[in-house]
Amino acid sequence: MIESVCIGCSIGCSLYVGDRIFHRKNAPHNEGKLCKFGMDLLKYYSREKAECKVDGKNVELNEAINEAKKRLEGYSGDEILFLTSCTATNEELAALKLLAEKFDAKCCFYGYGNALFSLKDIENFGRVILTFDPFVSYPLVARRVLKVKEVYEVGFVDGRVNSIILNPENPNFDDALALLDENTIALAEYSPLSTVYTPFLKEVVKSNAKAIVFNPTLNANFAAMLGFESFENKIDFDKVKAIYALEPELINGAIPSPELLIVQSAFSNGWCDKADVVIQSDSFHQKRGSVVNAEGRILINNGKSEQGVEILEKIGGFEQTASKVLETLNVNTIKEFSTVEITEEFREKEFKLKGEGKYYLTTKSNPFLWKGIDHKNFVELSVEDVKELGLSRTDRIKIGDKELCYKPSNIQKGYIVSEILISQLKGLTRVDISNLHY
Ligand code: SF4
Repeated sequence: MIESVCIGCSIGCSLYVGDRIFHRKNAPHNEGKLCKFGMDLLKYYSREKAECKVDGKNVELNEAINEAKKRLEGYSGDEILFLTSCTATNEELAALKLLAEKFDAKCCFYGYGNALFSLKDIENFGRVILTFDPFVSYPLVARRVLKVKEVYEVGFVDGRVNSIILNPENPNFDDALALLDENTIALAEYSPLSTVYTPFLKEVVKSNAKAIVFNPTLNANFAAMLGFESFENKIDFDKVKAIYALEPELINGAIPSPELLIVQSAFSNGWCDKADVVIQSDSFHQKRGSVVNAEGRILINNGKSEQGVEILEKIGGFEQTASKVLETLNVNTIKEFSTVEITEEFREKEFKLKGEGKYYLTTKSNPFLWKGIDHKNFVELSVEDVKELGLSRTDRIKIGDKELCYKPSNIQKGYIVSEILISQLKGLTRVDISNLHY
């Protein structure tokens, strides 16, 4: 049995991985509790493993490593980009950074580094403003939120708590901003689905209120501490000719197509399918290493494998990864559950409503979505829309290329609420529905 960390989101719940998942009650951040994704974590680990490949042919690990090194050396630093979705240990991220430095290339990540409070601190505020539904995406946050007197959710459809409804054509946060004071904490998620909330979060940061930003990837905080750049905003993809992707998962929905794509991954995915070189590495629970969660807490994964780091060190010909981790954490030894300080300016993001469909599709973030697993097969529609569409109970609807069941729900007309990924990753997008009568 391995003392491990759930990779589902930036809370990083501690648990034991064996022939099933066991609770780890002495962990201060999750106190042994896990959400459904954490309880089902073995499903995530039982996915098809990646295989070492060069130009589509199966090769041994060393050949894939040597080929990656040789091909990368054919590009200059400003043509190479190193990227990760941060489902990686501190040690792997530090090794990726050192490798990027070796090539004098940029290193970027998807996520937002921000750690100011422990989750328990949420309970001490008099008011919480949410920009996501914690009962869906972060149930361990919901537990804390339930202890707060005043809870508001800013969004496009009526939530379970006091709702501040936004106009999708022109989201205006005045009502939410009027609530900000030193007794208020805003809880938000940084993801391609959440860009609409950026103007609000920027105002939170300037106000007396506090904020915690969660990530759908585990270790964005350490990537931010290492100085990785934001994947979305600061990278000129037209100049990128070669990409080295470490454990890439859903990074903004799109997989780039540079001249050279090298992927280091435990599991087979769309990135591996497109890669010129695939380097298979061990899965997260098998790894020895640490991470920094959304609270800035150091968590340890007690597996045996250091293969992920060794691959990167071999390509770069360096060995200083361990000291880079200590230096970045500003500690002499890594002590589990201790906290580090991280603050970063909230990044400028842009919201653009695209598409001309009749319905607003709003997607609720959750750990399954970010791992590409469809855990539900239905969306919610308003009762009025169900009637207007003439849907019977056995009918299916089609949105984009997804055929789905639906559930009539107490939401406004013209909206679709989904917990599965239907269109490209956007916070709010317009779509059409086709009826499929059965
Ligand atoms: S998905 Fe997040 S909240 Fe759920 S168990 Fe994993 S780390 Fe905890």
